[in-house]
Amino acid sequence: MSIKAVFPGSFDPIHYGHIDIALRAARLFDELVVAVYDRPLKNLIFSPEERIALVAEAFADQPNITVTGYSGLTVEFCRRVGAQVIVRGLRVFSDFESEFRMALANNRLAPEIEVVALITREEHTFLSSTTVREIASLGGDVSTMVPPHVAKALKRRFAQMSESQHLEQVTSLRD
Ligand code: ADP
Repeated sequence: MSIKAVFPGSFDPIHYGHIDIALRAARLFDELVVAVYDRPLKNLIFSPEERIALVAEAFADQPNITVTGYSGLTVEFCRRVGAQVIVRGLRVFSDFESEFRMALANNRLAPEIEVVALITREEHTFLSSTTVREIASLGGDVSTMVPPHVAKALKRRFAQMSESQHLEQVTSLRD
């Protein structure tokens, strides 16, 4: 039997911690769908289309990984695409409680779908999209945390943001 897994997340933006989990999951399962959640309850800097494009570029050379956007319940998405497994990444202890809660809730909604949590590699323990965004917003070097195309996109986005803030200031000075 062929096993299809879904790796869901916001990926705002994708970083090496996510990439490592996805590549390891792609070795465990026949097919992996990296599923980009369109509207998480978080402040986002990239649109769903931008996040999907950045994730897709990261896995362009992986034959059993596909990338798609989704909205609504993750378990419903899994049922739609015929996936039996949800993959999540576990960093430090703080991830455990929320992942545990989410896994139990998903199990209540869809007992036929298994949640498999892969433990992060030591070097990615501190890595989160929030950290990457914070460092990039202050002009720091994120080249050890994200692939080059993501670093470029971050640079562009924060340049645009500071440009528009500057314009707002100019506008308000004129007012
Ligand atoms: P979400 O909004 O669902 O938490 P994220 O994009 O933040 O989405 O994360 C997607 C998945 O990747 C989650 O399971 C998260 O725990 C995992 N993850 C995030 N950072 C790392 C990391 N550094 N190492 C391993 N897993 C990670």
